[in-house]
Amino acid sequence: MLDVLFRPKSVAVIGASTKELSIGNRIVKNLIDFGFKGSIYPISLKSDEILGVKAYKSILEVPGDIDVVHMVIPSKFVPQAIDDCGDKGVKFVILNGGGFAEVGPEGAAIEEDCLVRAKAHGIRILGPNCQGIINTDPDVRAYCNFTFTKPDPGSISIVALSGGVAETIHQAFSEMGIGTRMYASNGNACDITIPEILNYYGDDEGTRVILLYVEGLRDPEAFLKAASEVAAKKPILAMKAGRTEEGAKAAASHTGGLAKVDLATDLIFEKTGILSFTDEAELCHAAVAFSSQPIPKGNRVGMITNTGGPAVIATDVFVNAGMEIPPLSKKAEAILQEKLFPEASVGNPIDVLATAGAEQFRTAIDVIMDEDQLDSVYINFVTPFFVDAESIAREIVEVNQESKKPIICNLMTDKRQWKGTVDILKEGGVPYYSFPSTAAKVLTALTKYHEIRTREIGEARRFEDVDRENVAAILQKAKGAGREWLSATEVYQILGAYGIPTADWQVTTNSEEAVKAAAEIDFPVVVKVDADTIVHKSDVGGVVVDLWDNDAVRSTVEEMEERLNTKDLRFLIQKYLPGGKEIIIGAKAEEGLGHLVMFGIGGIYVEIMKDVIFKLTPVTTVEAHEMISSLQAAPLLRGIRGGKGVNQERIVEIIQRVSQLVSDCPTIQELDLNPIIAYEDQVLVVDARIFIANSH
Ligand code: ADP
Ligand code: MG
Repeated sequence: MLDVLFRPKSVAVIGASTKELSIGNRIVKNLIDFGFKGSIYPISLKSDEILGVKAYKSILEVPGDIDVVHMVIPSKFVPQAIDDCGDKGVKFVILNGGGFAEVGPEGAAIEEDCLVRAKAHGIRILGPNCQGIINTDPDVRAYCNFTFTKPDPGSISIVALSGGVAETIHQAFSEMGIGTRMYASNGNACDITIPEILNYYGDDEGTRVILLYVEGLRDPEAFLKAASEVAAKKPILAMKAGRTEEGAKAAASHTGGLAKVDLATDLIFEKTGILSFTDEAELCHAAVAFSSQPIPKGNRVGMITNTGGPAVIATDVFVNAGMEIPPLSKKAEAILQEKLFPEASVGNPIDVLATAGAEQFRTAIDVIMDEDQLDSVYINFVTPFFVDAESIAREIVEVNQESKKPIICNLMTDKRQWKGTVDILKEGGVPYYSFPSTAAKVLTALTKYHEIRTREIGEARRFEDVDRENVAAILQKAKGAGREWLSATEVYQILGAYGIPTADWQVTTNSEEAVKAAAEIDFPVVVKVDADTIVHKSDVGGVVVDLWDNDAVRSTVEEMEERLNTKDLRFLIQKYLPGGKEIIIGAKAEEGLGHLVMFGIGGIYVEIMKDVIFKLTPVTTVEAHEMISSLQAAPLLRGIRGGKGVNQERIVEIIQRVSQLVSDCPTIQELDLNPIIAYEDQVLVVDARIFIANSH
């Protein structure tokens, strides 16, 4: 679909200019300088020739076909120019200029007009307000972009919402001497979307790794679909910025506002198997390794070093990230003892000593490659003047060519004096970095990717014993009555209909009924106020626990009646459940994605502790288990110091029943089960709230 955009045979620039510091000049120059393999057609009312290339007054005068047209003219002229492109049979238009949706309603109207016209002509638009594309493929050499970094050919393809970030990324690769494959930045993205570009990169054979930078997702549903398809084919490394409220504001104001979905983006990354980064340097460093190294089969790293301290730093990074540095086998130790210098350390890390030459390094690398219990190789390589560093580098490259296990190198040298050594590693595709922790983090990223890709998230359980119609009827009725918060009766009926276990309950309207209900439920009980106007019951003194007889229930109800003095007061009488652990399960609707489901330690401290985990619906059994095990307070639920743990299987089931409930009933905007009281055997909801949308 996007092939003609990324592999154009001809490019025209409407608004081409002889003025050196203009975009209309720059794009023509970039195409020429980058060695574009197709034809270039500058379109200019003023000049017959631009940078030595024949220019035309109108696109309609151009003799040949045109695949891609850049428009570098004021936005008000763009709609007409799009019609001209339609007459000419142009396939893609790149709108570099601004003056569209990002400036306000007037610009948005122009953008809409452009889109309508383009659709009528079968033209696709990239942008507006965007940089364009780059393709370094030697058969294409398209630099349809006005910026300045000229990448070498490589296998990393980039899609970035922000041109500025893209430039930073390009610069980083350029400094590391690493080439890239394709690049696209779609600015306001009125037509061509990031999911489409991802799909295109996914199909492109020359792309080995995809690097994605976003500040929010415009169409999460389309993204989820594309990302899961593409991530199954090749690694997608992504960074989502705008994580703080301030950051999100900056993002929103700069590209027409996308950053409203924050948490959901992370969850989509997680669900689709995208490796997520929070630091752009780490993202770029990792991409280099992904473009040349195999993915390790596990987290066990073999370390080689010819200097002490850096190995200590790398070890700390590995251990903190959950990597293992297992001991070597007896056989491996024997080989090392025989072939390394006597003072060398033959454990893991293997310290080959600063005096080690090519032979010693080679022995150590081969040993790690042959050890079944090791999955990857980390090398600290300092270049003392008394060894032949180039021949060491050659040995590393030779082993690397076999591509058995990933090799990551921390190269400590003067990169100018030891240029020969650096170039050998670079040309041999060995990723090298200037800090031990940088190199160690890269290897950790490769390992994490292996974990992500081999993680079976399984299927969401479907419960058949649910009464969906009953719930639909309850919701419909509440909606009809114009209520947004459901009453206790409605909420507990809904939970009952979905097999979500609750403490025994009855709703009553006066003290007589309350006393009767308490006797039926059996003491001890709890009295809670229930009224349309009261959301947080404890805040108004509307929860009294641990009541043991009729008098206590009666006086509690009567006291609340008098004090709260609201009409339509009801009283929930509930079994009192002491001594359990309080947990919370919640759900929140997320436009285009279903719901986010939350699990955590509950009760009144949930806001302070913030020890909660989110997942996207439908929550699978594996994910539900992860929600429990990844809590900071997980040990509390497992039981500590002789204390009993809680029934985790039951919690997993409730999480999945909630996931099914909200998926079946999209009207539910928010649901809170807080707290749920969990014991070794039973797990019972004692408080629940449901908020529905009346707009839907
Ligand atoms: P709200 O959240 O509206 O203030 P809750 O029903 O959650 O009201 O009650 C507040 C707190 O009282 C709960 O967090 C819990 O600690 C305790 N509680 C409420 N119901 C029970 C019950 N049935 N058994 C034991 N403790 C309860
Ligand atoms: Mg509560």
